[in-house]
Amino acid sequence: MLAGRCLCGAVHYAVADEFAYALNCHCPDCRRATGAAFKPFAGIERHKLAITQGEDKLLIFGTKDAGDIHCERCGSLLWSVVIDGTFVHVTLGTLVDAPTIRPSAHIFVGSKAPWFTITDDLPQHQAHAGEN
Ligand SMILES: [Zn+2]
Ligand SMILES: [Zn+2]
Repeated sequence: MLAGRCLCGAVHYAVADEFAYALNCHCPDCRRATGAAFKPFAGIERHKLAITQGEDKLLIFGTKDAGDIHCERCGSLLWSVVIDGTFVHVTLGTLVDAPTIRPSAHIFVGSKAPWFTITDDLPQHQAHAGEN
């Protein structure tokens, strides 16, 4: 299991080191949610993530089954619930422990911030993976 937490420490979670995929998303929503050029995240079945502290300190943007989960105190984006509530996209930046997986591609490069230049050799997809 890997530990993760928000900036202020009110919310802690544990997630299995069994991510199905990891990507860097350059879509405008991910930029705004993180305040960064892109969002590195990893996907895993929802039941493999557990909140270990601060379950009552969550701020849900959207809905419980299709939303972004933040700490209500410091605002850290911890994960997003996707695919009809079955998967979560964990923000790699909130992990305390290093996962085995590494981001394998850049997605939504078609809407990348013009001021950011991708300098690695990972594949770049205009939209999501599998769709160039
Ligand atoms: Zn916090
Ligand atoms: Zn995105």
